[in-house]
Amino acid sequence: MKTLDAPVPPGGTIGIIGGGQLGRMMALAAARLGLKALIYSDAADVPAFQVTPLQLVAPYDDRATLSGLANACHAVTFEFENIPADAMAFLAELVPVRPGAKALATTQDRLTEKTFVAELGLKTAPFFEVSSPEQARDAYGKLQGTEGILKTRRLGYDGKGQMRAISAEDAALAFKALGEAPCILEGFVDFAFEASVVAARGADGGFAAYDPPENVHEHHILRRSTVPGRLTPAQGEEAKHIAQAIADALDYVGVLAVELFVGKDGALIVNEIAPRVHNTGHWTLEACACSQFEQHIRAVAGWPLGDAARHADAVMENVIGDEVRAWESLARSGALHLYGKKDAKPGRKMGHVTRLKPRS
Ligand code: AMP
Repeated sequence: MKTLDAPVPPGGTIGIIGGGQLGRMMALAAARLGLKALIYSDAADVPAFQVTPLQLVAPYDDRATLSGLANACHAVTFEFENIPADAMAFLAELVPVRPGAKALATTQDRLTEKTFVAELGLKTAPFFEVSSPEQARDAYGKLQGTEGILKTRRLGYDGKGQMRAISAEDAALAFKALGEAPCILEGFVDFAFEASVVAARGADGGFAAYDPPENVHEHHILRRSTVPGRLTPAQGEEAKHIAQAIADALDYVGVLAVELFVGKDGALIVNEIAPRVHNTGHWTLEACACSQFEQHIRAVAGWPLGDAARHADAVMENVIGDEVRAWESLARSGALHLYGKKDAKPGRKMGHVTRLKPRS
């Protein structure tokens, strides 16, 4: 087992599991710090492979490849949270994995995650375990008239594995439609708007949070993040405290994001924790001294955290599917990032553009 008692020195190698745009932007940030990034992906033609020559291609539970990754790296991180738990446990025996097993185990399952958040004294939507059609009907009854959303406990993202329910029978049918996979039924939150907080915790327990953006989703996919948004300064501080409470309780190392609903009464309600860099933090590339990607690599490598202060106002807009065809006008309009994906499938994140204004 390798340990990490000292920071990874320049020239050292960070392993990144997952080869999408998040892995790509992490690899670029590592390069800027003189660190090498080794990308491990289960597919051959992925965005991150275009920016680093160090690559492994194999299924994520391939033990020989996981051992090879551990041998080649000082520390390992990941760009997505659905890595098989067995593979992660195997890897963690060989090399420091940051953030660690606790963060993954807690956030891979919506029931564990929401229970953890509630036990910290933070607000969530009402939620109930659903493992049978009867439980679905019972859970709906407990919502006392509000609409429900049934969500699979595992492997849901961008609205996948979710169905709305407006009656007990609906909830039971939704459970069947989701393949009778273990679920939770959540009460629908009639929020004023959505927000998120992206923050980092260092190996020494140090903490840095970015200003929380306001986020707009369309068809369950992030459309835009705006900072500053409609959060008041007090809500902004509260959001940062929420992120810190979560990061401390998970003994977290790296960047995490907490997605929030802002209630009409001003309450901040935790929707979801992402144990990784996050789409709602992409604006930090241009608007902050140290971006979320650099911050994450710094934390994983055991370096001091960078300055999360924001020097500009920013609007980050995703470039989704066919919208990428307008790349020339997008390039004229702001800081354009394209992820090097070949097929502009509907709903696919092809890039993003960030527009800055002097800080208000
Ligand atoms: P999730 O996959 O849980 O992050 O949900 C994706 C999106 O669905 C959120 O960003 C919200 O726009 C919406 N949503 C999820 N859960 C709820 C809820 N309990 N109440 C209202 N909207 C929700």
